[in-house]
Amino acid sequence: MAKIISVANQKGGVGKTTTTVNLAACLAKQGQRVLIVDIDPQGNATSGLGVDKHQERASIYEVLVGEADSPDAVIHTQVQNLDLLPSSIALAGAEVEMVSMMAREYVLQRALSGLSDRFDFILMDCPPSLGLLTVNALAASDCVLVPIQCEFYALEGLTQLMNSVHLVRKHLNPHLELLGVALTMFDTRTNLSSQVSEEVRRFFAEKVFETVIPRNIRLAEAPSYGQPILQYDARCPGAEAYLALSDEVLARVKGGK
Ligand code: ADP
Ligand code: MG
Repeated sequence: MAKIISVANQKGGVGKTTTTVNLAACLAKQGQRVLIVDIDPQGNATSGLGVDKHQERASIYEVLVGEADSPDAVIHTQVQNLDLLPSSIALAGAEVEMVSMMAREYVLQRALSGLSDRFDFILMDCPPSLGLLTVNALAASDCVLVPIQCEFYALEGLTQLMNSVHLVRKHLNPHLELLGVALTMFDTRTNLSSQVSEEVRRFFAEKVFETVIPRNIRLAEAPSYGQPILQYDARCPGAEAYLALSDEVLARVKGGK
């Protein structure tokens, strides 16, 4: 059975997609069979893996509206052990279409049930909102990983996010856990990053991963080459950080923490 992890934060630009793609690729490098489910209509994880999101093929949209079976929509990426259930532009309309569906919060969970034994990890790249797509991801997940950008207002909105997690746990998915909080875009040259990191650690304590993802231009460049950082520049600080994060994730999942 795959461990299903939602990478979620309703703020945009905090490193959800960068973390999903690179953590997934690092887990794959460690021999885990990994699937990325791109449920953000922007499709940045899809294009960041070099897959054309405009192409005519089954995507997570067709899966959610019942026009395709999830195994038929999964594609291999150029990275060994890493598969993708791509997003498409049409996904933008899915949230509206799903409103009238039966058990609309469980559409994704049902769709993924046929995939769970083919993978060790399923990582879901959530959109920047707490709408029905994110709720579906949380309802289908074992745990949630929250990236937090080491910036001003980092903690703003986190109460809301944690509230949503609690509500999903209470009403939809009692198994949902917080896997951890990952600090992203840490800038060693500024006091602000250190201050934010301290504040986040006060708030989330041991839930914060020890590994801090540095601000690293190579991480921002890699998606335009359609490559995870391990393919693009395996030796840069960003690659090292995501490898270390994947070690921590493996340890937490195995330790059942
Ligand atoms: P989200 O998915 O939460 O919207 P992204 O992962 O797309 O966030 O990151 C937002 C922007 O910041 C992107 O342009 C991405 O390339 C860049 N970025 C993310 N993480 C880093 C990092 N550690 N260092 C430098 N740039 C980063
Ligand atoms: Mg994103």
